[in-house]
Amino acid sequence: MNIHEYQGKQILKSFGVNVQEGIVADTPEQAVEAAKQLKIDYNSDWVVIKAQIHAGGRGKGGGVKLAKNLEEVKQRATDILGMQLITPQTGPEGKLVSKILVAQDVYYPGASETKEYYISVLLDRAKGRNIIMYSTEGGMDIEEVAEHTPHLIFKEEIDPKVGLQGFQARKIAFKLGLTGGAHKEMVKFVTALYKAYDTTDSSMFEINPVLKTSDDKVIAVDAKVDIDENALYRHPDYAAMRDTMEEDPMEVEASASNLNFVNLDGNVGCMVNGAGLAMATMDIIKLAGGDPANFLDVGGTANAQTVKAAFNIILKDKNVKAILINIFGGIVRCDRVAQGVIDAYKEIGDIPVPIICRLQGTNAEEAKKLIDESGLKVYSAIALKEAADLVSKVLAEQA
Ligand code: GDP
Ligand code: MN
Repeated sequence: MNIHEYQGKQILKSFGVNVQEGIVADTPEQAVEAAKQLKIDYNSDWVVIKAQIHAGGRGKGGGVKLAKNLEEVKQRATDILGMQLITPQTGPEGKLVSKILVAQDVYYPGASETKEYYISVLLDRAKGRNIIMYSTEGGMDIEEVAEHTPHLIFKEEIDPKVGLQGFQARKIAFKLGLTGGAHKEMVKFVTALYKAYDTTDSSMFEINPVLKTSDDKVIAVDAKVDIDENALYRHPDYAAMRDTMEEDPMEVEASASNLNFVNLDGNVGCMVNGAGLAMATMDIIKLAGGDPANFLDVGGTANAQTVKAAFNIILKDKNVKAILINIFGGIVRCDRVAQGVIDAYKEIGDIPVPIICRLQGTNAEEAKKLIDESGLKVYSAIALKEAADLVSKVLAEQA
């Protein structure tokens, strides 16, 4: 689950990580109040207005703007709130900005240089370890750094059994070229950041940029946080940070019905039990000359309720030209599933696209008979090949 920058910073702060202080606002008036409230203990009276959307690259897209006084705060807030912000990560349609973060300007000038770094903590699934990835080249696209100057990206592997060790935090500060007070600050920063990542059951904490100020403070200016959804039951306060406005509406509805659903852009909707079978079914659709419109795993119990919820979600997608139901009756009996499909179909009423229903396993023959005798616009199949041929046939009929 992704959260907003301001929420990520709240979490970081609660673990003792220094962050660029800010207050979230929904209106220009609130933004002005926020700017007044911000106790400026840095050496700058300026504030920065930052669009809160679940995508990076906001700076480049015009979603991060400086304001030098309260009039400018109001002006920038008015400009950014309600804008359809397009960044390299949003896709061409962009994302609507409905919240902004009013934050202290931490790039104030000073005796020595300010410097931006990149630091992230993430899970390396192949190694089964957490990794701290860091670079002296902060503030820019890390993908670009990886492509053009990969030698400037460092990785530190953390054994999850013992956690981040002191020598590792010192090595990171050293490799980032820091000495004296800034070195100490960076060791503290990395230690607290790792603690935050580990304790919150996150799969990623990416801070880009981490800023060393001219007076040797080390501060998180940005925060991109991804919390493992499977662990949210342990963290109700983080679960409450979910912003469904940022997610695909079809996926939000599916998760409310406990369906494992990913929206895709093809023309054949599918409804399958089991993630492995769902992947195989998407391949079959491709082989039949179609394109999967979604990934949908209805889970172990394919009853009338789940089938109905699945139909309703798939039918919201106007590109869908056919629906392939592919259920293996191992624990669940096929005739039960068939009855569920029939009941759901009747409850919804007229379904405008042809349905191919392949049920295999316990009582497959009985299930086929039920479908065939239902009088509904549903093609039945037992073998996979039959189902694939039916998909090709109904697509060809509509071409
Ligand atoms: P992103 O573009 O979505 O990654 O958003 P960031 O939070 O990383 O901000 C983008 C850029 O805005 C940063 O790399 C900084 O260069 C700039 N920025 C952020 N905060 C401040 C600030 O307080 N003062 C100034 N002058 N620039 C800032
Ligand atoms: Mn950033």
